[in-house]
Amino acid sequence: MSLPLHQEQKQPKPNSKQELLLEVKNLTKHFPITKGILGKEVGRVHAVEQISFNISKGETLGLVGESGCGKSTTGRLILRLIEPTSGDIIFNGQKINDLSQNELRRLRKEMQIVFQDPMASLNPRMTVGDLIAEPMQVHGLNKGENKDKYVRELLNAVGLRPNHMYCFPRELSGGMRQRIGIARALSLKPKLIVADEPVSALDVSIRSQIINLLEDLQEEFNLTYLFIAHDMSVVKHISDRVGVMYLGKIVELAPKPLLFVYPQHPYTQALLSAIPIPTPGANKNHIILEGDVPNPINPPSGCHFHTRCRYVMERCRQEIPILREKEVGHFAACHLD
Ligand code: SF4
Repeated sequence: MSLPLHQEQKQPKPNSKQELLLEVKNLTKHFPITKGILGKEVGRVHAVEQISFNISKGETLGLVGESGCGKSTTGRLILRLIEPTSGDIIFNGQKINDLSQNELRRLRKEMQIVFQDPMASLNPRMTVGDLIAEPMQVHGLNKGENKDKYVRELLNAVGLRPNHMYCFPRELSGGMRQRIGIARALSLKPKLIVADEPVSALDVSIRSQIINLLEDLQEEFNLTYLFIAHDMSVVKHISDRVGVMYLGKIVELAPKPLLFVYPQHPYTQALLSAIPIPTPGANKNHIILEGDVPNPINPPSGCHFHTRCRYVMERCRQEIPILREKEVGHFAACHLD
């Protein structure tokens, strides 16, 4: 029997001992495609489709998937930089979907973002000191002498020198600019940071420094992270749990050790098989994914992954697999047992 097209996903349950910071319930985002001067809607991009997950205080949830899978859209929806089509976002016990812009402004202090490209996200005409102080000025915090003192403290926290506050972004390396982006995000003492591909624009040699810095800052500032990346090896390093997205849906969600050792979903298995092994001659069975990611305007019927899955069955073409708990804390959306 076929399931309804948009059957609600089972909500992953939090560990009862942990305090939740963020709950996302059946979050959906469709971008309308319009045509003509009257803006008639002729289709929709199904960017995020009925996803649910939680993040506990102090936890890092990695969100991983190929480009266009909806992971960055998810991050922006949580911060309400874009509005959801449906679903709920609950931050620190408060539903934030319906908050007014004024109420949202207050909440934004607690939820910050680190962008992928630090050069594009920093105003090139502002000094580093002004860039770090800008969010505080917007919220009327740390004025006068306090401001410079706090900027120096933040520079120190992200591994830069006090005199970097007089530099312009173009005078700094990519890694240094990303440290500025992190200091800016920290300046309002947030509880949650959405790190959207924060190392993918950086040289490989710099990536581990920034990841280590984020880990250190998490401890020092009691931060919770939603860490978005397309690179499994980066997610592996920093995450406590990992969600794998494919074509707008979460197809697997599990604690890191379970996901990396016992991946349940064929898509996760393929992503893991693509992680390079540094040891020469190491045995590696790379699973080649045939074809491209399907068009999110018209996603495949049933399991969205069925056009590329090596285990596809007739049922997969008809029936949407729901995110089921295969073992404690380990969810996967696949008809295979
Ligand atoms: Fe593959 Fe079917 Fe599982 Fe989808 S439901 S991942 S097509 S086996």
